[in-house]
Amino acid sequence: MHLDIIRAPQVARPALPVDKGALEFGRRFTPHMFTMCFGPTEGWSAARVEPYHALSLDPSALVFHYGQEIFEGMKAYAAPNGSVHLFRPDDHISRFNRSARRVCMPEVDVAFVRRALSTLVDVDRAEMPQVRGSSLYLRPTMIATSVGLGVRASDQFLFFCLVSPVGAYFGSEAISPVAIHVSENHVRAVRGGVGEIKVGGNYAASLLAAEEARDAGCVQTLWLDAIERKYVEEVGTMNVFFVFDDVLVTPALTGTILAGITRDSVLRIAQHEGRRVEERTISLAEVLDGAKSGRLKEAFGSGTAVGISPIGTLVYRGARHAVRDGSIGPLAQSMHGMLSAIQRGESPLFPEWRTRVDEHSLAG
Ligand SMILES: *Cc1c(COP(=O)(O)O)cnc(C)c1O
Repeated sequence: MHLDIIRAPQVARPALPVDKGALEFGRRFTPHMFTMCFGPTEGWSAARVEPYHALSLDPSALVFHYGQEIFEGMKAYAAPNGSVHLFRPDDHISRFNRSARRVCMPEVDVAFVRRALSTLVDVDRAEMPQVRGSSLYLRPTMIATSVGLGVRASDQFLFFCLVSPVGAYFGSEAISPVAIHVSENHVRAVRGGVGEIKVGGNYAASLLAAEEARDAGCVQTLWLDAIERKYVEEVGTMNVFFVFDDVLVTPALTGTILAGITRDSVLRIAQHEGRRVEERTISLAEVLDGAKSGRLKEAFGSGTAVGISPIGTLVYRGARHAVRDGSIGPLAQSMHGMLSAIQRGESPLFPEWRTRVDEHSLAG
């Protein structure tokens, strides 16, 4: 497929804030976006990198009524020599296709979309924030655009990708442990449902639990399984890890957990380092008992937006349970460092995880 590039007029833009804390996640976008359309006879067409613009859609478009929408979140990082790389783009695009299949949306061509996103990042490469720990966050999205209120799978779709310069998530490279609220009233996912894909409705369904977490003085929700409400599944929109004694443990992928690419990276780095890792069922009782006895050495979340986010406190039924006196654990700290080094190309490990954005790769 041909890829058109329509450049935005050069406009004077305010310089990116030097203060990393000022670069709030997902609030600012680069001058360009990528779009392409799908129709039942032509398939995917009209692929272009073009100026960032508002969309105009019929109010009866199916996305507005029945939530046929999927997305991804991936990042591009600058290396010390100035070259820019996408982190595990094919894994993200393949996961996008798994999400698409589950909600009756068309798949995209992985190689074409990788090239399109590389071109988009290349066109806006000057927007890469220079501060250490920052990156360009890409948000590939697909929405159902057929019109009419009958509940059915759309046969027309719009794929678009936005790019947002983001600072280190916590406003500095020092990662600080957060308090997490164990949700008893709400669940995120059930086997056979859509918890293992990135469909928009999952996040609407999580907002009330997030408000309860905030009311309890916490920043995120710890999700339990939907059937017994006994087993730990995820934390907010991140995968969750625990260190029991010297074993790194994370819930197994059994159909209710999003297969995080950061989760996979953490497991593979840990295995490479010769650590013991387990993917298995983890009960809340094991976590809380471990916090009390000291057997639980560390807990942290993992995701593209944040990287590694240490958990300092668990709040369950009003009681606060500190994980290792609330300080950052050595494994979370070293994993954060190793992951950032790999992403920035400062580590020789897993070079296959990075795809270089070639300069002026702009041919159609
Ligand atoms: C995106 C997401 C994750 C993390 O996935 P990454 O590929 O590591 O960014 C974890 N859980 C949920 C629910 C998610 O939506």
